[in-house]
Amino acid sequence: MTDSDRPLLLPGTPVLRVDPASVQVGGTDGDPGVQVGPLPPGAADAVAALVRGLDGGRTTRAVLAGAVADALDPVVVGELLTGLRAGGRLVDLSTADLVASSPSPAARARDAADVAAAVGAGGAGAWARRRVAAVVVDGANRVGVPLAALLAASGVGRVHVRDRGAAVAADAVVGGLSAADEGRPRTLAAADAVRRAAPGVDLRPLPAGSAPDLLVLTRPWSALDPVPVHGERGPHLVATVRGPVGVVGPLVVPGRTACLRCAQLHRTDADPGWPALAGQLHAPGDPAGAGGAALCLATALTALGQVLAHLDGSAAPAALEATLELRAPDLLPRRRGWPPHPACGCRPGTRPPPAPAGPSRRAGPRPGTLEG
Ligand SMILES: [Zn+2]
Repeated sequence: MTDSDRPLLLPGTPVLRVDPASVQVGGTDGDPGVQVGPLPPGAADAVAALVRGLDGGRTTRAVLAGAVADALDPVVVGELLTGLRAGGRLVDLSTADLVASSPSPAARARDAADVAAAVGAGGAGAWARRRVAAVVVDGANRVGVPLAALLAASGVGRVHVRDRGAAVAADAVVGGLSAADEGRPRTLAAADAVRRAAPGVDLRPLPAGSAPDLLVLTRPWSALDPVPVHGERGPHLVATVRGPVGVVGPLVVPGRTACLRCAQLHRTDADPGWPALAGQLHAPGDPAGAGGAALCLATALTALGQVLAHLDGSAAPAALEATLELRAPDLLPRRRGWPPHPACGCRPGTRPPPAPAGPSRRAGPRPGTLEG
């Protein structure tokens, strides 16, 4: 935080009066909240108004100057801001976040909660970074389209859903394609769904030869496609439903993390018959994904968190070298690790080693086993 950052109170934060001379901000949902008081006569109203006015439009310096103009103690106000930041009720927008915000009052109102969420998750500047990010979703299905809509609503500036053919009745899902889309080109129907969530999003495909910040593969067994998929060599994430299981991951950063082939090699280690089975799974079919709405949306939401963590760069996504798997009835993600496979050699400086003389010892859980 600097004096030039612009404090924004999270939308919906309660600003309460404990008594005529004291103010409490937050503290109603398990968070500690911050109390100020007792204050001099009349000051409580001014403090409450100041807190409610923390809309990200003024710098901290300007807020403190305004407090002085209102005869408030700037030390008390400064401590209040510090307490709210520590409790996660206040985030600081950067000038870049403001510049990246829409000039339209309606769009700003639509985005307000998501701007706060982005900056809360990724720090000052996170909204601006998301606005210039590009994500391609491969598969206009019951996971891909809701995910694309969520990405656009979360501030990702360019979201393109690619597919071919016409939508079928089974594609319809909450937040995705609708029943009225049956028979329409999938790409157009998907674009409309994303636009409903975020009217200002850029839906265009990327220019030939350029890679998105992330490619999301949402077809049931797209992990078995040759990688990199369709010639792209950038980061990619699997997010799909396979039968009763929602699968998010691995998230692959080429050259830095284990790749999709690593996971296939681990599967082959566990079951030498896997390549023959995988060849059948790879055949076209079940293009829409067969999951129920709850499973598809839970998968899309879990994928959203991984995409945003990757774009924000604020935390290591849990799907790096792992899959997050969701099953009914609770649909809570459980992690299954897929570390680099020694025979893959997908990372710079590594070479497939000679065949081992015997079983190798590994630290940590065996690849492909659920953790926790
Ligand atoms: Zn690999």
